[in-house]
Amino acid sequence: MINKFIASVLPYLPKKFVWIFSKRYISGQNIDDAVAASHNLAREGISVTLDHLGEYISELGQAEEVRQIYLEMIERFEQEGIHATYSLKPSSFGLQIDFETCFGYIRDIVEKAHSYHSFVRIDMEDSSCVDAELELYRRLHELYPLNVGIVIQAYLKRTPKDLEFLARLHSAGSPVNVRLCKGIYVEPESIAVKDRKEINVHFLDALDYLFQKSIFVGIATHDRELTDGAQRLIQRYSLTDKNYEFQMLYGVTPELRRELLAAGHKMRVYVPFGKEWFGYSTRRLKENPRMAFYIIKALFYRG
Ligand SMILES: Cc1cc2nc3c(=O)[nH]c(=O)nc-3n(C[C@H](O)[C@H](O)[C@H](O)COP(=O)(O)OP(=O)(O)OC[C@H]3O[C@@H](n4cnc5c(N)ncnc54)[C@H](O)[C@@H]3O)c2cc1C
Repeated sequence: MINKFIASVLPYLPKKFVWIFSKRYISGQNIDDAVAASHNLAREGISVTLDHLGEYISELGQAEEVRQIYLEMIERFEQEGIHATYSLKPSSFGLQIDFETCFGYIRDIVEKAHSYHSFVRIDMEDSSCVDAELELYRRLHELYPLNVGIVIQAYLKRTPKDLEFLARLHSAGSPVNVRLCKGIYVEPESIAVKDRKEINVHFLDALDYLFQKSIFVGIATHDRELTDGAQRLIQRYSLTDKNYEFQMLYGVTPELRRELLAAGHKMRVYVPFGKEWFGYSTRRLKENPRMAFYIIKALFYRG
């Protein structure tokens, strides 16, 4: 109740005030901020994936601007000598307005990443986007098998079927690269598992399946139960960093992050930046009011 209340009032508070809460989770408004954050993480031995904030657009003209930002971002990071990867949300490129235009814009970005032997991850959005985002991935993967990846959400009941689809692509000869996460959107019970423990069982089942199929996995979680379970599987299958990496969000559970690094695992942090930070923070809070608790907690428990 309290979380829901905080989440609902935050959008009406002055931006400066909300920034106090949000800055721990967002590297800044400009690319310079993202570069600085990435250099700091690199000093700790952590890789990054960059995300330019902004989602669902209403006109395709906005998508052209986002395309340009990503192309410049790749150029800038390469010039800085930071071999990053890039995460993007197809709805920022007009996925639900015009699929082909969206495909064209994202293809340009993947092509640019390909020219630097880099990599673009298609984030998975709410359930209304899943079919289109898997199709986007299938087509891009056909063109640039080593330079594009997808995300699978453990809470979706359709996930085992989607994993089989990805395993078929993988066994056809071109390596598939998956980020596995719980899923952040509020979905109806008819299509998504709601129970936290059950989601964790699904997560580890999915991870086991991906490992058995020799598919590279970005294990995206801050949940110790899952990082422990993942480490057991990594040991059981004698895997190396050619098979997996852990992934976490900027500013979240740095202690667990350090523990995993110290245990010899590869770590990548998702670094969001952009002028849309206010919308991003408040939307995330509405989608998942538990985040309000984390944000309040972050004020009192540094690190
Ligand atoms: C790299 C990365 C990429 C992602 N990409 C996607 C995507 O494409 N699509 C999608 O639907 N979801 C994505 N997510 C979000 C994911 O689905 C979960 O909603 C999110 O990671 C929280 O789940 P958890 O596994 O960390 O477990 P939780 O049970 O939510 O969290 C475990 C513990 O981590 C801590 N924690 C978690 N979140 C926070 C926070 N924000 N601040 C402080 N502490 C926190 C808390 O201590 C909590 O008890 C991504 C997550 C990561 C890490």
